[in-house]
Amino acid sequence: MRRLGIKTVYLAALTAVSIVTFVAFSLFDVHVQQQQTEEALLEEARTFAREMDAVWQFMDNSQNVINYSSAGDFDFKGLHCSVVGKSVGAIFSAGNDYTIRYTNFNPRSAMDQPDEFETAALTRFNENKEIREYYGIADFEGEERFRYLQALKVDESCLECHGEPAGELDITEHVKEGWTLDSVGGAISIVIPVDQQKNAMTANVMRDAAFFLLLSLVIGLVVLLVTTVFVFGPMNRMKNAFSAVGAGRSQISVESGGATKEVSEVIDCFNTMAEEVRSVYANLEEQVADRTLDLKRANEKLERANEKLERQRDDLTALSVRLQEEARFKSDLLSMVNHELRTPLTAIITLSQVSVEAGELEGGRDAVEQKSWEEVRKNGTILLEMINNMLDIARSDAGGMKASCEVMDIGDVVSSVRSAIAPLAQRFRVSFESHVASDVPLVSGDYEKTQRILENLLGNAVKFTPDGGHVCLRVECEPASGDVVMRVIDNGIGIHPDDQERIFERFVQVDSTSTRKYNGSGLGLALVKEYAEIQGFSVAVESVLGAGSEFSVRIPAGCTVISCEEGEG
Ligand code: ADP
Repeated sequence: MRRLGIKTVYLAALTAVSIVTFVAFSLFDVHVQQQQTEEALLEEARTFAREMDAVWQFMDNSQNVINYSSAGDFDFKGLHCSVVGKSVGAIFSAGNDYTIRYTNFNPRSAMDQPDEFETAALTRFNENKEIREYYGIADFEGEERFRYLQALKVDESCLECHGEPAGELDITEHVKEGWTLDSVGGAISIVIPVDQQKNAMTANVMRDAAFFLLLSLVIGLVVLLVTTVFVFGPMNRMKNAFSAVGAGRSQISVESGGATKEVSEVIDCFNTMAEEVRSVYANLEEQVADRTLDLKRANEKLERANEKLERQRDDLTALSVRLQEEARFKSDLLSMVNHELRTPLTAIITLSQVSVEAGELEGGRDAVEQKSWEEVRKNGTILLEMINNMLDIARSDAGGMKASCEVMDIGDVVSSVRSAIAPLAQRFRVSFESHVASDVPLVSGDYEKTQRILENLLGNAVKFTPDGGHVCLRVECEPASGDVVMRVIDNGIGIHPDDQERIFERFVQVDSTSTRKYNGSGLGLALVKEYAEIQGFSVAVESVLGAGSEFSVRIPAGCTVISCEEGEG
């Protein structure tokens, strides 16, 4: 859409406002002029009416002189009020456009017969005695005229000729109308031409309109001139200056001479801005050079980092290859240990067991030899346990440890563990008992791993309880929570509170002395924890140094197949 210039908008607005105000002013002027003309005509008509009234009064007052002889006898000379009035009116009207006459319903002379306008006026006067005037612009003998009628009052002097009784002849030999004092005795009818006033009014309106138009034109021109000089001129200079700045020529400033206060403020702002742009331009090149240098440095840094990353990636690839090789080697080693160590070790343990039992049966064996066989069996068993633990840990690290989920009877697990632990306890001269509460329900978990948990805990309990001590395994169901809890309790050496948390870490043993004394690898409890957690169980320890320990494995209610109460039932 093409944008309009401010001058066009300004001129259009000025023209529209001028036209509207001109029309409003003209209508108002015509109305005022009409009103004034009508008032002037009315005043003129009233003056005539008063003059005619004065003639009438004069004639009425002078009857004693005019129509009587000097001897005092009635000597009618034909000059009574109406005759003189009508004559004066006729003389006044002759030779001009003015008409003054008397009119009445049923007049004595046919000349005084009322026309349409006069009939309307007389009717109004008779209807309402208060109304004394009737006027307006109306037709008279085919032309538009101002017409005015004034009601004639009937007074005592009128009654002599026009009063009662009606039908009787008056002194002029005319039939009396029978008027009373409240009758309307006709009206003075005055007709005034309006051409002159109309012409004057038209001339006035034309003059006013011309003056108004001239004034509007002058005001418009003055405003246009002022705005052109004081606003458009400076704005044009500003526009050129903006174009120059846009084209990159910042060495520019605008003169505010001749501008108004507001425009000169804008010019000042522009000059400040141009100054700012100049200084920015001046610094820009320097800044660009600095930034380019920074960018170059950052780029070099990035390239170096990239090279480093590439080197690290190569290292990682090499490491990954090495790790894969190591994993393969570890896996080979595990299978080798599994096969090459466990198989002969199991054979050694079995052989030593058979030998120990044989010695016990024969009875006469050399005590040293018997003890040696027992040592072989004991150390073999410990070694096998250590190997088993190490294999499990290695499997777990390789992500190969998985727990099966089967329904198991904790009672069965305990029986199987008891048969393995009881001989051990006997050898360590520690009493051992186990108890599974009757309300313990079936649970879901990994049978073998649960068995290994209990074996490790009980093995430790036996190992760390001195001769004559006591180890106990209890399995109960907690009615409040529905959890099944397996407790391994001993009255052995106990664990210091500072160590109770870290003993579940790998290769942690409380002190080296005990290690030497009790043997072990420090992996048993770490495995217990892993076996428990992989099945969703938890392990905790409570211990008093020198008094004993209690390890508890909690199987949550969610792992039970039926609840405690149901198990009991
Ligand atoms: P270890 O092969 O040495 O038994 P564990 O991981 O099974 O390794 O145990 C870690 C350490 O926790 C043990 O060396 C021992 O000091 C301590 N410990 C474990 N069970 C008991 C217990 N019932 N009584 C006292 N100390 C214990």
